[in-house]
Amino acid sequence: MTTHIDGNAVASEIRDELTDAIETLASEGSRPGLATVLMGDDPASQTYVSMKQRDCEEVGIEPHHVDVDGDAPADELFDTIETLNDDPDVHGYLVQAPVPDHVDYRQVIRRIDPLKDVDGFHPENVGRLVAGDARFRPCTPHGVQKLLEATGVETEGKDITIVGRSDIVGKPLANLLIQKADDGNATVTVCHSRTADLASKTRNADVVVAAVGVPELIDGSMISEDTVVIDVGVNRVDADTEKGYELVGDVDFDSVEPKASAITPVPGGVGPMTRAMLLYNTVKAASLQTGIDVDL
Ligand code: NDP
Repeated sequence: MTTHIDGNAVASEIRDELTDAIETLASEGSRPGLATVLMGDDPASQTYVSMKQRDCEEVGIEPHHVDVDGDAPADELFDTIETLNDDPDVHGYLVQAPVPDHVDYRQVIRRIDPLKDVDGFHPENVGRLVAGDARFRPCTPHGVQKLLEATGVETEGKDITIVGRSDIVGKPLANLLIQKADDGNATVTVCHSRTADLASKTRNADVVVAAVGVPELIDGSMISEDTVVIDVGVNRVDADTEKGYELVGDVDFDSVEPKASAITPVPGGVGPMTRAMLLYNTVKAASLQTGIDVDL
């Protein structure tokens, strides 16, 4: 029997656990605050930002939001960042990617106060993560670790193949999983578009994490029996639905599921975990900035 890993259920438990910490902070006059910044009017980004706002409201985090005109000079966005760095009510914030082409996203990230960098993308936070002293684990990799833990999958001594080497998923996840830690100690192979014989790398793994952005790239022929399969991918493909599309992962669920020992669905797998871990990082940021100890 293949375990279907329920990301919504695990995320809901994490959110429940955060509620106590949020109330502790609030009772001491420091309700955690999360700000989202959106430059431009990309519809998908608008949806992501409003979901993050709603998540905050549901757990008692104070949401803040700033819109910046998509045609404004980069300096206007940088001024917004300065203001948020100085705002004591905002404990964490993120600038929703992608930003318009005339803005250098790396410059954006470098300007964010590392103590408020709840995405965990600032070079100081990336360095700390690599050094084994993470302040904020990036939300998606952290969510994947929590899903494995909740499913009872020990990572120690396991061969884990990650397909994808992005700065937000593949690289940080690889760094976390090789650390000398209870939720690390794995032997990690990181694959990308130039990897020769991808299937041999995925077939050799106890755990496969797909973070590619190519619909259903990983099929049953690429997976060995009893593999744990975590599908990070979210891809819109044309479909005969009301919206004209459906969401599919990077894993061909129908051919992989019968061979896997456990698998995440899309949607309802990694996505809700990413959102929950953003709330987690916001609570952690509030605790770090106020010096109020909370149980996380
Ligand atoms: P990126 O486009 O930044 O990175 C994709 C990676 O996949 C790259 O390393 C690329 O290689 C590699 N790749 C592309 N094609 C192939 C191929 N044919 N074989 C092997 N490797 C390949 O994507 P992200 O990491 O940002 O996102 C990956 C997916 O995860 C997307 O579908 C995205 O929507 C989803 N996502 C989901 C989240 C969630 O919460 N569920 C959060 C974040 C992302 P190379 O480096 O050589 O180009």
